[in-house]
Amino acid sequence: MFWNNFFESTNWRREKWVLITLIIGLVLTSGIHFLSQKSIQESSMFEFQLERSIILENGLKNIEKHLISLDNRLQMLILTGGNNNIQDLDKFRKEIYAELGSIKSKVEESDSSYWELDNAVQQKIEFNSLILSNYKNGDASSLVSMFHQNNVISSNFRDAYDQFYRDHDLDFTNNFESMLRQRSKILYINNIAYFLGFSFLVFALITLLRSIKKRMILEENLILSKEQVVHNANIKEQFLANMSHEIRTPLQSIIGFTNRIGKEKLTEIQSDYVQSIELASESLLRIVNDILDASKIESGMMRIEEVPFSLPGLLHSVDSMFQPKVANKDIYLKLHPGNDLPEFLLGDPIRLTQVLINLIANAIKFTEHGGIDVYPVIKDRHDQNFTLQITIKDSGVGIPESKLPHIFDRFEQADPKVTRIYGGSGLGLYIVKELVNLQDGRIKVKSTAGQGSQFVIEIPYKITTDIQGMPKPSRELVLMKYNFEDIKVLVAEDNLMNQRIVGMLLSDEGIEFDMAENGKVAIQLLENNSYDIILMDIQMPEMDGYSTTEYIRDNMHITTPIVAMTAHAFAGEREKALNAGMNDYISKPIKEDNLLNLIAELAPSNKKIVQSSQDPAPIFRRTKASSKSPDELFIDYNYLFSSSHGKRKYLDKMLNLFIDQAPKEVFAMGNCLKQGDNKKIAEIAHSLKSTVGYVGLQSNFQPILEAIEEQAKENADTEVLVRLHEQLNNLVNLAIDKFKSEILPIVGKP
Ligand code: ADP
Repeated sequence: MFWNNFFESTNWRREKWVLITLIIGLVLTSGIHFLSQKSIQESSMFEFQLERSIILENGLKNIEKHLISLDNRLQMLILTGGNNNIQDLDKFRKEIYAELGSIKSKVEESDSSYWELDNAVQQKIEFNSLILSNYKNGDASSLVSMFHQNNVISSNFRDAYDQFYRDHDLDFTNNFESMLRQRSKILYINNIAYFLGFSFLVFALITLLRSIKKRMILEENLILSKEQVVHNANIKEQFLANMSHEIRTPLQSIIGFTNRIGKEKLTEIQSDYVQSIELASESLLRIVNDILDASKIESGMMRIEEVPFSLPGLLHSVDSMFQPKVANKDIYLKLHPGNDLPEFLLGDPIRLTQVLINLIANAIKFTEHGGIDVYPVIKDRHDQNFTLQITIKDSGVGIPESKLPHIFDRFEQADPKVTRIYGGSGLGLYIVKELVNLQDGRIKVKSTAGQGSQFVIEIPYKITTDIQGMPKPSRELVLMKYNFEDIKVLVAEDNLMNQRIVGMLLSDEGIEFDMAENGKVAIQLLENNSYDIILMDIQMPEMDGYSTTEYIRDNMHITTPIVAMTAHAFAGEREKALNAGMNDYISKPIKEDNLLNLIAELAPSNKKIVQSSQDPAPIFRRTKASSKSPDELFIDYNYLFSSSHGKRKYLDKMLNLFIDQAPKEVFAMGNCLKQGDNKKIAEIAHSLKSTVGYVGLQSNFQPILEAIEEQAKENADTEVLVRLHEQLNNLVNLAIDKFKSEILPIVGKP
């Protein structure tokens, strides 16, 4: 498989020449090695043979020399008639035998030319002994003929000598020359092979280097494009987060106001319209929330908590939430809890609620007759660990079998008509599946078209008895009004407008607070006072919110709940704040409901009294259309009125604060511009973002403030900053004029 792909790939086709030259180079190098080995072997063979030849030749020559000496001594002895040299003759004989012995050791036992030589030498020695004994016996007459015969025996020896010489190839010069010839031939082949091998290897090396260079460029491009992809993903994520935020804020106003209109006395048709607006805006809000959740999941920002929660409580809340809906549709929703369901579990109640809400909402959406049954049961219990299985069974339209395998994919719907008839984006089941997976669980679906569907989730949990730190019901699910007693809050915030607004919101609720303009002051206040909650701005001069929190947690060991306040609406901002040791996160511009619900959640239980939900009487109605005015300044009246909950005093204070504060900040920015203090310019621009947010001016001011912040951070041309500052100044003046002429007169009226 791997090799198939390997040889089919384009890269292989490009790289094959490198491989071929490498293989040839390797073959040639192996050839060189083989030839060198052969040449070494032959040299040592030759040396061995040479040594043997020298020994044999020397032996032969010595035998011949000793035989001649023997003959000469014998002749001398006979001619001089003495007896002196008889011992010498023995000495020569011994030496001849010694030489014969050494020759024998170098030849094989069956070597015939050796035996002929041996024979001839023996004959010669024996004949010499015969001559000597005749001489000693005084038989002079036979001596002459014997010497003649001795010559014949000598020539026999000579023949045997020559035969031996030939048979053993003792011609040294000839052998040496042939060896030299052989050697130079091998050397020649070696050189050619070496040259070719070297050339191929050099070629392979060059091609390899070129391919490495190409690969490096490719890798660099890959890294660049990966960074680009990550960058694009971040931009997408930021865009989604910003857009969701931007859409949700006005949407919440629409829902809020529609809700209030619904409570007025309306004609039947008006009431129908209001209901339609309510339904449409709720489904739009759900889509926006789904998109934000999906983007969080995709960027790995979705955090799963492990906290104690009441399972029956959670099931009951979800059930009560849907009862009015099923009653409206004339179908039923029935909970069938298993007998042995534990009371308290360790896990993420918010994510479990989200999964159940999605599945039950779908079941209700796609069921017209009959109803929905929910079966929570325990499975695979081992001590405190078990799997919670919840089956949601409906008798609705069902899902065709062909669609089932893809039903959990993003934007997948069983039928194209679904969106038209029921609404929805096809993201719900994808989010459900991802949330279940993130909790180490699994989800299955069974369905028959026309007969209903059955979704089964299985999530592992731990049973617990330690219910300290159990979270309160989700802020989105429950609308409550709180009364706070003896609660003291520390607010760390540098922006004057923010300071006053948070201060106003807290004072309205009778909550005591201290204000710190940066992290350092907050720490000083904490050294001498104790608080129930700390509201912490993130971006502050001297010491920012993150370092202040770290100091409070790590050095002062204070565990008071800390809530981050930031103007960023990016996904992951909450997680970042939690990682830094904070308990929660609230985005600016701060809304009264959100702030109070958060305080209610985090305040000690003995210091708050929960009251029933209450709608403040509406004081304001929109007096003018809020579309863009001719001078292009857009005030988000919806936001302005909903955030003030229609309280005239609050709105009046807020607008006057802006009229007082904003020009001062713009003026300060102008001074910094003259001094070239870009850092301070960026800080003022950032701080102005939340100032304008409180008075519904975000859409006009956001782009220009962001541009100033960015340009100042990048130390852009002063001219650009001067131009932007001028535009900002004009916008602020325009806004102040509008507030003075359009809104303040209405607010001022009783
Ligand atoms: P949405 O409901 O927003 O379209 P979902 O991801 O929640 O998106 O669901 C995807 C599709 O799966 C739905 O459009 C619908 O066709 C089908 N579906 C989901 N739940 C049910 C159900 N209980 N009964 C029938 N069809 C369902």
